[in-house]
Amino acid sequence: MRIGNIDVISGQVQQGYILTGYTADNAEVKVPLLVASGKKEGPTFWINAGVHGEEVSGIFAIHKLFEIIDVENLRGTIVATPVCNPLAVRAIQKVTREDHMDMDMHFPGNPDGWLTEQMAYHFFKEVREHADFLVDLHALGGVDAAPYTIHKSLANVPNHINQQSRALAKNMGFVLNCFVDLTTATGELPGNTNGALDIQSVLNGIPAIMAEMGAGNRILWDIVEITIDGLLNNLRYFGMIDGDVFQAKEQILFPKRCFPCSKRGGLALPKAIVGEQVKQGETIVEIVDFYGNHLESILAPQDLLLIGVIENPVVTSGKIVAVCGLEGEAFC
Ligand SMILES: [Zn+2]
Repeated sequence: MRIGNIDVISGQVQQGYILTGYTADNAEVKVPLLVASGKKEGPTFWINAGVHGEEVSGIFAIHKLFEIIDVENLRGTIVATPVCNPLAVRAIQKVTREDHMDMDMHFPGNPDGWLTEQMAYHFFKEVREHADFLVDLHALGGVDAAPYTIHKSLANVPNHINQQSRALAKNMGFVLNCFVDLTTATGELPGNTNGALDIQSVLNGIPAIMAEMGAGNRILWDIVEITIDGLLNNLRYFGMIDGDVFQAKEQILFPKRCFPCSKRGGLALPKAIVGEQVKQGETIVEIVDFYGNHLESILAPQDLLLIGVIENPVVTSGKIVAVCGLEGEAFC
């Protein structure tokens, strides 16, 4: 098996890269590639991070996972790409600096397209060829947030693929979990969601999820640990390492999200606690002016789970001030 520039050798951990494009100074855009190939046969589990440049905790989850993986007792191969968009990571911003494109809206990419589309194409070609399951690690840039998983159900995909995506999400063990039925969902984030890595993976028969690891722009070590536990649990579930699959208690599944916006401009004051329930009519965020005078209360339209609130309080009209989960119930 050859992935990127690596000829995979059974029983070894190898480092290499996937060449995905060139910058103006003819420098190669290289996606760092880590491969741990077990001594025994098994599936290929792909773990990605850094498709958005300010979402850094996932990078460290991959590094730490590779410190503890024992290839002697691994069945199959773990492939990890901790910095999927190196141009966005080095610019410390969500999108590619050179063309201002969000890579996670442009899979499966285009070999004749813009820089980000070409990068997405060369990256996804490897995913499509090799991955059997995929977990894409994200974080919420600019939002103080609780960790949560997102799995999506797609039309025209065999049911077992959607079911395995669901298992990937459940096995992560996060308390908060979002299920998006993309045949019916409304009120989701705008943009080309069809170009997301997890969606394109599922459309290609590769069960896949996103795991949002709390806030971006920092390493959240407690969430790194939770994420590693979840990834190990998935390796057990798919028979790649020994041990019993743990069932996390009190996991919540919500089928809808909402993203309340400010009408007024000013300073946003969080009035509810991230990760907890907010009752209908209670204040999520209050907007005050620069004198401290009340301008607006942004209320919960119904009972909801507060996933995150805006970190920097300075807002204009139309700024998303919170990320909420709706209609939560037990995830079983
Ligand atoms: Zn992201």
